[in-house]
Amino acid sequence: MTKAGIIDTHAHLDDNKFKGDFESVQARALEAGVTRIISVGTNFTSSRHACVLADEHPEIYAAVGVHPHDAITVVPRTLEGLRLLAGSSRVVAWGEIGLDYHYNFSPQDCQLDVFRKQLEIAGELNLPVIIHDREAHQEVLSVLGDFPGITEVVIHCFSGDLRIAEECVKRGYYLGIGGTLTFPNNKKLQDVVKRVPLEHILLETDCPYLAPQPWRGKRNEPAFVTAVLEEIARLKDVSQEEVAATTTNNAEKLFRLKKAQKIR
Ligand SMILES: [Zn+2]
Ligand SMILES: [Zn+2]
Repeated sequence: MTKAGIIDTHAHLDDNKFKGDFESVQARALEAGVTRIISVGTNFTSSRHACVLADEHPEIYAAVGVHPHDAITVVPRTLEGLRLLAGSSRVVAWGEIGLDYHYNFSPQDCQLDVFRKQLEIAGELNLPVIIHDREAHQEVLSVLGDFPGITEVVIHCFSGDLRIAEECVKRGYYLGIGGTLTFPNNKKLQDVVKRVPLEHILLETDCPYLAPQPWRGKRNEPAFVTAVLEEIARLKDVSQEEVAATTTNNAEKLFRLKKAQKIR
């Protein structure tokens, strides 16, 4: 693996499923070459938890925001609290935010309202944004289009087709690619990955969810992101080292991370 290590750009390390063996999860990540992880918030509590983890662990960074599932719980105080958390130098992005029209746990008008409010704040704070988009590709792109000042964007767990991917690339966005790429029947995403320049791809797990083959259905963890890396290398017919180096460089650029020092 590359000297700089690889970066899991989307993990939920605050999740209860990591409570019992957090230290061994982190050790396995390092062993696999995953030297940095972004722990992403989904509401105020998980965002605060992500910030605490980032304060305690030099290899962990935090993102703060409210997931569309939780949009219905937002009151003005929620966003003010998140804004305060975002003041920490350990917070590298606002997210995850966006639209989920698959589950609709929050009504769509409420999701839209909370999405827009958070884009406004991210713009004010000049932070990159991590976008959750489930069955709302066109709407997400159209809302983002209303915020031309926001150019640092990753569509995490990208699930659109090639046309949507090309529009994202045209706008300079990144596509977060995770375990779903390794599912044998996911030809749509495999086709997207084949065609999209590596310079627009980030590695992610979305752990504890969406474990790649061969761990599908089990708890996911940052170490498993190597399965995604291997699949990208196979599909694009490039070396794993190249995938590692380029995606790490992409993440450093988007989230303005310091270049990695040499590891052990
Ligand atoms: Zn998500
Ligand atoms: Zn997530």
